[in-house]
Amino acid sequence: MTNWICPLCGKPLLPDGNSLRCENRHTFDRGKSGYVNLLLVNEKHAKIPGDNKGMVNARRDFLEKGYYAPLAAAFSQTAAEAICNIPQPVVLDAGCGEGYYTDAMQKALEQAGCTPELFAVDISKFAADKCARRCKSAECAAASVFRLPLAEESCDLVTSLFAPYAGEEFRRVLKPGGKFLMVIPGEMHLWELKEALYDQPYRNEVKDCALEGFQFLERKTVESEIFLPNPTDIQNLFGMTPYAYKSSVESDRRLRALTELKTRIAFEILLYSKSSS
Ligand SMILES: [Zn+2]
Repeated sequence: MTNWICPLCGKPLLPDGNSLRCENRHTFDRGKSGYVNLLLVNEKHAKIPGDNKGMVNARRDFLEKGYYAPLAAAFSQTAAEAICNIPQPVVLDAGCGEGYYTDAMQKALEQAGCTPELFAVDISKFAADKCARRCKSAECAAASVFRLPLAEESCDLVTSLFAPYAGEEFRRVLKPGGKFLMVIPGEMHLWELKEALYDQPYRNEVKDCALEGFQFLERKTVESEIFLPNPTDIQNLFGMTPYAYKSSVESDRRLRALTELKTRIAFEILLYSKSSS
């Protein structure tokens, strides 16, 4: 049984061999990893939407070295505490990337004694495919967080780490009183990296926690320091940041000249519940 719904007609998608099919015979094939591409052609705003293969691999290589392990631990612990009173919670990771945090959350939920039904979407099919390989028990799909292929009020928890925020859509798929867990960069995140690249580095703006349609419950700050001993790790880290999209010739030159880097990392973990109105 999957909880995916057909992106064309909204009917439940049921397994049919290696495909998923709705009662209107719309059919979506699974990839080798088990992930399914539910992204419609008209939702692709680029030929290859989301992160490409190189970006997904760079992020995986960086995360697997454990640099962000303190965040993975705090995030998955918060998720487990939020829903461990539900024996079989339905969880959606909205913007799952290659599944590093999805996997950590799955393990934390199991350790807390519940058996989650885990769903994960990413607009990048490369990321969704990687996530399916990593989290064997998760249902992974290429899909937009702004048009989730899940039924109304089907989820106990939606998570979003450094991913686009789609508040209305998250509220649609959350059960009444369901939880929403978001991770955003903290004010001083990667400060020393920014100092090395820019003449006038800016702090991240950490906005007010309030989100329309949600009740704010809890905020946790995760701060640490990491040491990157080689240029590959530094460039992989830089490639994960929004700065990578708007880097200048000069900041590129400075980036390539870095052979090692010690920098702060900082994250805000924000927990909400869906408001009833
Ligand atoms: Zn259909």
